[in-house]
Amino acid sequence: MSTYLELKKIIDENKSFLLMTHVNPDADALGSELAFYSVIKKLGKQVRIVNHSATPYNLEFLDEENVVEKFDAETHAKVFDETDVCVILDLNNAARVVKMEAPLRAFKGIKVCIDHHQDPENIFDLYVGGTDFSATGEVLFKFIKETKIVELDRFIANQLYVAIMTDTGSFRFERTTPEVHQIIAELVSYGVNPPAVYDKVYNQFNFGRVKLLGETLSSIKMDSTKQIAYMIVTKEMLDNNGTSEADVDGFVNYCLSISGVEIGILFYELNDGIKISFRSKGEIPVSKLAAEFNGGGHRNASGSRLYNVTIDSVKENVINAAQKYLNN
Ligand code: 5GP
Ligand code: MN
Repeated sequence: MSTYLELKKIIDENKSFLLMTHVNPDADALGSELAFYSVIKKLGKQVRIVNHSATPYNLEFLDEENVVEKFDAETHAKVFDETDVCVILDLNNAARVVKMEAPLRAFKGIKVCIDHHQDPENIFDLYVGGTDFSATGEVLFKFIKETKIVELDRFIANQLYVAIMTDTGSFRFERTTPEVHQIIAELVSYGVNPPAVYDKVYNQFNFGRVKLLGETLSSIKMDSTKQIAYMIVTKEMLDNNGTSEADVDGFVNYCLSISGVEIGILFYELNDGIKISFRSKGEIPVSKLAAEFNGGGHRNASGSRLYNVTIDSVKENVINAAQKYLNN
């Protein structure tokens, strides 16, 4: 049986579903959750979306009926006890749900992972997806088409469109295949408005975000090889501009816009540690580089979170480690 049919069987045989995604969710994470939520709702079953992080402000438009809940240990402990199936979308490693990791690991029901990252953790009863997919949204499109579990509609099409648009860098990253364009064509035929969607995701930021981008670009430096560019966002920069973590999404890509640069790194100061974003060109596997620092991700886009360390204390180590991955 295909994994799509196995997933349909699990849905058919159970009544209640809890969906969750990774810390600081992006549009593939939220679009996939909301599309899957809508599928389960259409079948008349119980479903909730509970996330570790609040929805970033520029993506709130996706959640038309305000159904996404922010995790609270007290309120949601019961939900874990009473739900038949936990579905994690757009992540494959329980640590990425942060405060929800312990209840997820202890969950007694069926655990399903729908994802497209490398090296899934071996804790799921069913894994659907794989690294060939451009986005988790693409996995869900194939699931819906193959199983005909529900009819596609404009809401689901819109969620899946946003998921695929953002995770392919607006249709420019490597996994933008002919098939991806065919999927997009079908989604648009359900009434998705591409310029309006793009405008909502990328042209509705706070003034402070653009100021913060300016300061971050001014912080950019090159390593001795001139093949690694790195930038820093401190808490002070964030606060001074009235911005938050969601505003920093996408900044690291500017590192790769410099000729000759093969690896881009962004160091971001958290309240209790740091986050590092890695990007690379071509064959350079920054997922492996991130794994050296307790992280992971895709070959060309990965990240790590390190707690109780400062940017200054790890920066040099990270750049030295990155140099090993350069081609010459
Ligand atoms: P970003 O730099 O945009 O936050 O993340 C890029 C990609 O890196 C994400 O899609 C995700 O695959 C991966 N990633 C980011 N942070 C972490 C992390 O802390 N742990 C793991 N395993 N992967 C991460
Ligand atoms: Mn994704």
